[in-house]
Amino acid sequence: MIAAVLDKPQTFTLYQTPIPNIQDNEIKIRVEGCGICTSSIPLWEGREWFQYPLEPGSPGHEGWGIVEATGDKINDIKVGDRVAFLSYHAYAEYDVAKEGSFVKLPQQLANIPFPGEPLGCAMNIFNRSDISKGDTVAIIGIGFLGALLCQLAKQKGAKVIAISRREYSLDFAKKYGADETIPLTNAWEVANTVGEITGGAFCNRVIEATGKQEAIDIATEIIGEYGKLIIAGYHQDGLRQVNMQKWNWKAIDVINAHERDASKYLTGMQSAVDAVLQGILDPQLLYTDILPLDAISKGFELTKKRPDGFMKALIQL
Ligand SMILES: [Zn+2]
Repeated sequence: MIAAVLDKPQTFTLYQTPIPNIQDNEIKIRVEGCGICTSSIPLWEGREWFQYPLEPGSPGHEGWGIVEATGDKINDIKVGDRVAFLSYHAYAEYDVAKEGSFVKLPQQLANIPFPGEPLGCAMNIFNRSDISKGDTVAIIGIGFLGALLCQLAKQKGAKVIAISRREYSLDFAKKYGADETIPLTNAWEVANTVGEITGGAFCNRVIEATGKQEAIDIATEIIGEYGKLIIAGYHQDGLRQVNMQKWNWKAIDVINAHERDASKYLTGMQSAVDAVLQGILDPQLLYTDILPLDAISKGFELTKKRPDGFMKALIQL
């Protein structure tokens, strides 16, 4: 089979590698596609502590495809079924997933890409955000995740304020239901605008989806008393500072919304399948760059640089 190998930072090469064998509790999947995840960018860029080359297909963890073979202990899925799965080698023609790390994709979703992991992640974060009808929700950072959260919050009947540095992102937020869009400038300006929009009440939910210090500063200003601040961004590049006095004063809850438990990932993926079926979640417009496996380096480059119009890159095999 053909697999992409990250030989060294910023260089994928395609190699002919053996098709993987499966254990009793595993399935073999003919991969149809796999998303490119922002969280893989440090690996792509290179850090001293990573070792290259990576294993064939790594770090592809947003795969979907057709079941080609099942182990003896697998009963809930059969050859020919289509699944979204969790693995780490999905930038390849074939991959393997363990029992409990895949969900079946129903016939109605045939022919649409389904990167299960990021969609499940959006569902889980939304779940942890505890959003109900009538809430005022600010979402800071409108990438793939932020846009999906706009849609989910809107579907719940919340008022949604989208905040992003990029104009095209705010256009996506509008398409995904945001009531108000605010350019991300500085905490003072954003807070003034949010104050005007909300008549001084500010937001009882703020979702930080950038992974940057400035978004925490903005969130601190625009969250209302007893609000919930949901951290959905990955803060991977050092320590953060918070205005603890304001957090104390406002009596807010702070929720770190990324799950650690694999079973929760799976629950999230299953609820993403259900939400797409019900039309609550419609990620299609956000798959802005669909590329073949031999253009995977370009896909990573786009994910890193985020040129105008870019939301999410998928590799299609
Ligand atoms: Zn991911």
